[in-house]
Amino acid sequence: MTVAEERIGRLHDLARAAAADGEDDRARYYVRLARRVAERNRLPLPREFRRFTCDDCDTYLRPGKNARVRLQNGHVVITCDCGAHARYPYTEREDSVESDTGPESSTDGQ
Ligand SMILES: [Zn+2]
Repeated sequence: MTVAEERIGRLHDLARAAAADGEDDRARYYVRLARRVAERNRLPLPREFRRFTCDDCDTYLRPGKNARVRLQNGHVVITCDCGAHARYPYTEREDSVESDTGPESSTDGQ
């Protein structure tokens, strides 16, 4: 694991903790920092990070609090309070699929 990957992991933890405290602005700040680190180092963001952050407004998503989660045709659809949707294939074994390209709405800079 590289230093950059560790930083992203750390920022993800901080964002999650801030969101749990109801500090959405602080969580968004950490989310943006993590995105920037990933971009600068050309690293993919971890799956969990992508799933729990909004591509549109960088909010750290808390299902039941500021995001709604639905299952639809084998997909998980997460709707942020800002109105953005993210759709993921539903897989039971999270870490078994490495070819995942992330949310269909994302622009991974490619
Ligand atoms: Zn949003």
